[in-house]
Amino acid sequence: MSLNTISVIGAGQMGIGIAQVCAQAGYNVVLNDVSDEALTRAMSGLDERLTRLVERERLSREDKEGIEARIDPSRDYAQLGAADLVIEAASENEAVKSGIFKTLAPHLGSHTILASNTSSLSITRLAARTDRPERFMGVHFMNPVPVMQLVELIRGIATDQATFETCRELVERLGKIATVSEDFPGFIVNRILIPMINEAAYVLYEGVGSVESIDRSMRLGANHPMGPLELADFIGLDTCVAIMQVLHEGLADTKYRPCPLLVKYVEAGWFGRKVGRGFYDYRGDVPVPTR
Ligand code: NAD
Repeated sequence: MSLNTISVIGAGQMGIGIAQVCAQAGYNVVLNDVSDEALTRAMSGLDERLTRLVERERLSREDKEGIEARIDPSRDYAQLGAADLVIEAASENEAVKSGIFKTLAPHLGSHTILASNTSSLSITRLAARTDRPERFMGVHFMNPVPVMQLVELIRGIATDQATFETCRELVERLGKIATVSEDFPGFIVNRILIPMINEAAYVLYEGVGSVESIDRSMRLGANHPMGPLELADFIGLDTCVAIMQVLHEGLADTKYRPCPLLVKYVEAGWFGRKVGRGFYDYRGDVPVPTR
């Protein structure tokens, strides 16, 4: 099936990145968020990032204008549902995601494919609550979407081959590389990555190292481009805890217990970079560890 219009639901750090790469590849994009403020922030953030690329001569002014013109911020579910593909990229919360698919249901075109950018939730379970489990897929982009090459593709138990092929072709047209994961909690990347971040939070919690020494150790000692706590702030601590909870419940193994300190940061609303504070405080000129 050929795609022309793609709706993206959720205009947070992932949603706007997905909208950008789709518009860059020539698709018309309808972008939605439950919050008008989030939608406005997403569009102005995109404009700033693209302006910087134009200034550095890495993007032409015409291409920047084309990308922006192809993204239509909308609160209209009829317009969202009429797209060939809907990519849901709202908060990592099963009730929120199922609620979106339910609200969208009466507005969906008969041919529309539904995809979720969930980091960890069961694709089969999300799909089963829609009227089209055979046309439902996990399409898991990495953060930051315009930079990261990988997209994980996850079939639910009922996903049909045509849906899978359409999503695989989309990934190719976006210039990215797909890997296929089975539908188990966290898929491949987050099954490995998020427990490492959780362990880094335990190392901090138990006083084995400070924020700076943990990040420096993993940057210089394991050659990771970012330390695990910096990376957690970048992903969003709320998202990290949500994924740990899915791993803990879904795999029923105590080794996935979310670190109480990580949970405490989330309870404080210190979600990381996106709110200005997490393991580091980003409100000044340089990030400063918060403990
Ligand atoms: P975010 O907190 O930056 O953005 C989430 C957005 O969803 C917010 O703007 C919020 O207003 C919006 N939202 C909430 N309920 C909604 C609703 N009912 N309708 C429309 N919009 C709604 O989160 P994010 O980091 O962009 O993550 C979004 C999704 O992508 C999650 O499923 C997350 O697990 C996944 N993901 C995140 C990363 C990452 O590194 N942050 C990487 C890959 C995948």
